[in-house]
Amino acid sequence: MLLKLHTFPDAVLREVAKPVAAVDAETVRFMQDMLETMYHHRGVGLAAPQVGVGKRVIVVDINEPQDPAQALLMANPEILQSSEEEFCYNEGCLSVPGQYADVTRPKKVRVAYINIHNQRVEMEAEDLLSTCIQHEIDHLNGELFVDHLSRLKRDIILKKVEKARRLAEEEIGHAL
Ligand code: ZN
Repeated sequence: MLLKLHTFPDAVLREVAKPVAAVDAETVRFMQDMLETMYHHRGVGLAAPQVGVGKRVIVVDINEPQDPAQALLMANPEILQSSEEEFCYNEGCLSVPGQYADVTRPKKVRVAYINIHNQRVEMEAEDLLSTCIQHEIDHLNGELFVDHLSRLKRDIILKKVEKARRLAEEEIGHAL
């Protein structure tokens, strides 16, 4: 089932999401809906707040081509360790449509999470996968990739997004 994508400045994107008590059948179904929604919008990662749900759940698939069998479905993801070494990537976000900026983050992270079998798992990620997981975990803490930029750059991007959204809403208004 496709879920509705929430974009800036929706308040849900600034809230801290709550941990999942256990990954039960309902949570797995929600994760699969998130995955479907992410693929539909051609994203490589999606966090629950982006579909308006304040739960600590993320899905990630950076494979080329993307493959649901290889996707990461993670509940309560937590960064245990981050490398000193950094990695820079031109990030975008489905909730900040059409905007991209270079963001520097730790190159490698060690992450713990609960998988779809309700088991605690640890893994290491680097480069794009590491960036993507960190970007999605930021969403669970009410943070967006633009928060890693200078105030000036962030304000320019967010003003553009707000303006585009306002124009789109006006167009819909006229069409109706
Ligand atoms: Zn995002």
